[in-house]
Amino acid sequence: MEHNAVKAVKEFFESVNSLLGLSVKCEIQVLERGKFPICRRNGCLAVVPLFFEHPDLKDNVRKVLMSELYSCYYLDKEKSGRLDINPGFMAKGICQAMGISFLSDDEIEYDLRNIRRMLFDDTENGCYFAVGQKLRESAFVSYEVVDIVRDGEEETLVTVRPIGHNLGKSERIMTEEELYQRCCNYRNLKDEKVDMRRNLVVISGPSGVGKDTIVKELLARYPNINKTVSVTTRTKRSNETDGVDYYFVTKEQFYEYQMNGSLVEYELYDGNYYGTLYEEVERYTENEPLILVIDIRGRRSVMMRYPMAKAVFITPPSFEVLKARITSRKENSPAEIEHRLTVATDELEQATKYDYVVTNEDVEICVRQLADIVNQKV
Ligand code: 5GP
Repeated sequence: MEHNAVKAVKEFFESVNSLLGLSVKCEIQVLERGKFPICRRNGCLAVVPLFFEHPDLKDNVRKVLMSELYSCYYLDKEKSGRLDINPGFMAKGICQAMGISFLSDDEIEYDLRNIRRMLFDDTENGCYFAVGQKLRESAFVSYEVVDIVRDGEEETLVTVRPIGHNLGKSERIMTEEELYQRCCNYRNLKDEKVDMRRNLVVISGPSGVGKDTIVKELLARYPNINKTVSVTTRTKRSNETDGVDYYFVTKEQFYEYQMNGSLVEYELYDGNYYGTLYEEVERYTENEPLILVIDIRGRRSVMMRYPMAKAVFITPPSFEVLKARITSRKENSPAEIEHRLTVATDELEQATKYDYVVTNEDVEICVRQLADIVNQKV
């Protein structure tokens, strides 16, 4: 007989699958005891029915936890662990899309701690922390948990031994809550913007790979495909048009965008800022394919805000070909060529983090492959 808790998790996964058009599946283990009502364990989902079905556990908390686990599964399995993005962002997007009010990890932990105390009096399951666990309070202060005791009904006291820079300092005893506040108070994702739109495709590739030519061809041949125009503080080149190639802005204007939270992402490149405005992405609807040509560092920030975006890496047929292309561009000095090649080597290593890798051996083929990805034909 399938346990009700297992059934509830499966149903939740199914409803998210149908909402997002995905097919995320998970193996579910049932545990008698555990620190969390539901968590990941050796690649499986482990459910503790006693905790999961506890009357004091709010349905909202349960759903946020399941959304987080769904996101972990999606990012781990579907993307083979390649997308190093925080599953919390995707979970927030799922909650928004499903009308579940999102809760921060800290709010969830507050609820769980109270129930954990009621349920388990053993230190292994009754406390957020575990003996031997290493914690970091700041760049200079780290601890190792050496003992956990329950002080009557109310408090759990945790003894920690300073390690790292403050090794040798005396042990400290803190309440579970205090230690959590010091070492596990995570960034609150509640204020972050997340959007589950699926029409976005991030395109990156090393310098010299022929990105500009490919993108130009793609846009010319497929009029349904759009491209975001970035803002930059770089000075306009003679062949560029404001509002077409970039929005050219002053540093002051750029800082204002930063301060107002108007940017999806931004990076400093060669002394100039480059960034993508939310407004620029939101100009297009879900049905209008939109590409963002941004550097490797920008990809991660875009995926955080738009977890359903796809990422394509354009790679040269070989490093030798890339080297020949960069070297043949007469405008670079030998030192600049050397630098670009070093950067390109690092960038090529990032290719594994992308959903698709397209080789630019033949522009025709490369553009067609790219168009199929952008138009969701693959
Ligand atoms: P360029 O000055 O040659 O036009 O661009 C320099 C670099 O900035 C290129 O690698 C380009 O892909 C990147 N870039 C252009 N727009 C953006 C943006 O909005 N965000 C980020 N992160 N990089 C960008």
